[in-house]
Amino acid sequence: MIPITVFSGKTVALFGLGGSGMVTARALIAGGADVIAFDDAPLKVEQANAAGIRTANLSDIDWSNVSALLLAPGVPLTHPTPHWTVARAHREGVEVIGDIELFCRERAASGFNCPLVAITGTNGKSTTTALTAHLINAAGGDAQMGGNIGTAALALEPFADGRTYVLEVSSYQIDLAPSLRATVGILLNVSADHLDRHGTIENYAALKTLLVAQVEEGGTAVIGVDDSYTRAAAERLERAGRNVVRVSVEGPLRDGFYAEGSRIVQSKAGKAYPVAQLAGIGALRGAHNAQNAACAIAACVALGLDFPDIQKGLVTFPGLAHRMQPIGTRKTAAGSVLFVNDSKATNADSTEKALASFPDIFWIAGGKPKAGGIDSLSDYWPRIRKAYLIGEAADAFAKTLDGKVEYEITGLLSRAVDAAARDAEASGLKEPVVLLSPACASFDQYPNFEVRGRAFHDLVLALPGVTKI
Ligand code: ADP
Repeated sequence: MIPITVFSGKTVALFGLGGSGMVTARALIAGGADVIAFDDAPLKVEQANAAGIRTANLSDIDWSNVSALLLAPGVPLTHPTPHWTVARAHREGVEVIGDIELFCRERAASGFNCPLVAITGTNGKSTTTALTAHLINAAGGDAQMGGNIGTAALALEPFADGRTYVLEVSSYQIDLAPSLRATVGILLNVSADHLDRHGTIENYAALKTLLVAQVEEGGTAVIGVDDSYTRAAAERLERAGRNVVRVSVEGPLRDGFYAEGSRIVQSKAGKAYPVAQLAGIGALRGAHNAQNAACAIAACVALGLDFPDIQKGLVTFPGLAHRMQPIGTRKTAAGSVLFVNDSKATNADSTEKALASFPDIFWIAGGKPKAGGIDSLSDYWPRIRKAYLIGEAADAFAKTLDGKVEYEITGLLSRAVDAAARDAEASGLKEPVVLLSPACASFDQYPNFEVRGRAFHDLVLALPGVTKI
């Protein structure tokens, strides 16, 4: 844990006692602050009490000596309307901040010169965060990884010489971190998402852009420039004389890093140098992962890593569970079947990335349907050898596929895995892929996408003759 000393001797109100809220309370207490915590859920308040954290209804406390309101990132700050604690803090003239802000203030105050890589974007944050931390550690460095990806930032190991922090930062967290100044900021991409919280795409893009606009003196802004919002951000920062490294997977750049097939190329004043190769790295398949990898590579170069070390790290990147995660292979007369778990793909947009990554697919799809269904995926129908439909969405998906793609309604995941494995083997194809990429939420059959992904993982590894990857 990173004790937060910058509020030592002060009173801090805290709202939102989920995982990161509890950690924040403990970190503040460890650093000498007086914390008064609350949550709308009585059970969470009880749990905090049991853990020795002082709680009180924040509408009843004396706000005159409260120094800050610490807000959990999921609690509405502005849209659709500010949460009642936020409205109260504004009335009382109390600042509203989050755990990433505490991390940044403590980092600035601690005297340790720990590099901070902060990563945001609409898609690919977790992959890029995990890859960046992996590349640093694989090269013999000491990277701590956290933020929006699993471990709360304040639950990481304390600051120490030579330690690098790699934090995934959501737009919610940026909104609550006015002094987020990274050594390297990465903005991957911006597309419409979370507009319920941010009101308009312009607000959302402006927030995301803050992360790269605020990199510290001498720092680097790594920006994927393949959409109009991020391109505009890069141009603006370049005009202001900032150190911007552009990244593209859509075509060559005069300066920056770009993908050319599976190669990552660095370009300096129009001169191109191939610097990394992604071919054969299962966890980094697809153009979207080339964007993630190129951004991670650019960040590592800014931190001083060299290309041979980066390439070694890329090859050993295990990938993230449930995101196009290769699970196992099974030898056939014609070649081998690859089993891929993409349970995190809970909508058609995410599934599109997986369908774009393989030529011969035995596709397991369905679950609790999302608005829009799978109509947008029709460009990929020629790649699908057969679909196996599960869960509530099965009938609707069958209607969409009827006459275009062969399908079978299997209902349960276990039947889908058996049938897809059997058909892939019998297909005579050299490298068929059995892909779970549901384009649906999991809640009709599973508590969450992780449990669904683990079920797929276990079913695949229980098939005879499957070798674990
Ligand atoms: P996030 O943390 O931003 O949700 P992840 O790295 O967990 O992103 O990836 C989630 C899904 O988003 C992946 O399974 C893939 O379908 C898609 N994705 C990943 N990276 C990108 C990218 N750079 N551009 C577009 N989509 C992506």
